[in-house]
Parts: sequence; structure tokens; C-alpha cells
Amino acid sequence: MATDFTVRQAKALLVHARLCAEYGAPFPFFSTKDPLSELVSALLSHRTKNADSHRAYQTLRATFPTWEAVLEAPAEDVQHAIRACTWPEQKAPRIQAVLREIRERCGTKVPCSLDFLAEMPIPEARAWLESISGVGPKTSAATLLFSSLRIPAMPVDSHHHRVAQRLALIGPKVGEGPAHKMLEALLPPNWDAQQVYDHHEALMFHGQKCCYFHAPACGRCVVLDQCPFGQARVSPRAPTLFGEA
Ligand code: SF4
Repeated sequence: MATDFTVRQAKALLVHARLCAEYGAPFPFFSTKDPLSELVSALLSHRTKNADSHRAYQTLRATFPTWEAVLEAPAEDVQHAIRACTWPEQKAPRIQAVLREIRERCGTKVPCSLDFLAEMPIPEARAWLESISGVGPKTSAATLLFSSLRIPAMPVDSHHHRVAQRLALIGPKVGEGPAHKMLEALLPPNWDAQQVYDHHEALMFHGQKCCYFHAPACGRCVVLDQCPFGQARVSPRAPTLFGEA
């Protein structure tokens, strides 16, 4: 008899196949940054529109020639350089603290590249990153997957999280942080970086283009038959939003 976990595993694969077909996977990677640069970029992107965090990153790089220069600069100058993103007054000292900690751990004069993470088992590489204050599971996964390392660790952003929750791949009370391990556990362990990236992108695109926060377009959704939340919306008799379809 299928367990709840195996049912959710099968659903995750089915949803993956349909959404990848819907949005045109395989998706090209959007970044070729080295892992340290990707880490800083991920820190800038928290709760910020992509265009704004991109602008903040570009201005930061244009203002300071090296990460060491960012680290040694007055926090107000870093804050000014990243003013295009949300909460620059919090992110500037946080980025400097992360760079400082990396420099101390590497035992070098400048923050090291983080290329050595490629030599570690993925859970160890994630744990290394997440033991830095201010680095959570989404940032660690983004650093490993989106950077030139191309390591199959899956970030879960707010769109991805919302879609997974409505599909009942995770429970209604599971937050974004804990969702990382639970959703990754549903994927085949031998998936490569492209497959993991496609999964994340497909669920994220679905959240952006169909499964909106307000008024999701369930009537044209290609995974409606898999979605208890959507079924409850289209069926006025359904008793609960998160009940089994
Ligand atoms: S059926 Fe509706 S709620 Fe469910 S995934 Fe599709 S758009 Fe989102």
C-alpha cells in the first residue's frame, strides 16, 4: 500500500513533468557567477524584485573592485551602493559580516572563492554555508545551484513554496525554511543540477504566471486534478481547502 510519502513523491514527479512541459524546460541557467558572488547576490535578493536586486548587485560591483573592498568600506557606502534593493541599511552590514566570517574561516586576507564547496558532500556544503550567521537554506541552495558550481541543491522561494503547499506536497503549516528538506526529499536523489533547477524554476514560474497569491487561475491550471486547494476553489461543496482531492 502506498504511503503518504510515496504518494507525494509520485505527485512531485507528475507535477514536475507537467509544469516543465507547460513552461518549456530545460531552462537556461541565468547566472554564471562564482559561488562567493552568488552568495552576495542571494543575500541582496531577499524579499526584493529580481530587477531591483540585479541593479543593486551591479552597482555594488561597479563601486567596489573586490569583495575585500566591500568588506573594508564604511557600511554607509555599501548601503548607498545597494540602495536599489529592500532594506539596504540591514543588508549592507550583513553582507560585510558574512564576508568577514568567510575571510576568517578561510584564514586568508581576502574572502575565499568558496570553490572548495564542490569537493564536499552536498549536505556538508550546505551546513558550512548555513552555519554563517544570516545564511539560511534558500541562500545556501542558491549559492550552490545558481553559481558556476552547479550543485544540485534546491532553493524554495515564496512562489515555489506557495505552489507546493497548495498542491499538498507539504503541509499547510510548513514554513519556507523547513520546506527545503521536505521538498528535496521528494525528488530522485540522482537528479543532476539541471533537473533540480528545472523543478524549482517550473514551480516558481507556475506561482508567477498561474498560481497567484491572490486569485490563482485554477480554471486553466495544468495540475488542477492534483491540487486539493484548487479543487476546493472550483468545487463549492468541497469542505476544506487542504483536504485530500
Ligand atoms: S489548481 Fe489553483 S491553487 Fe492549485 S496549483 Fe493550480 S493554480 Fe495553484
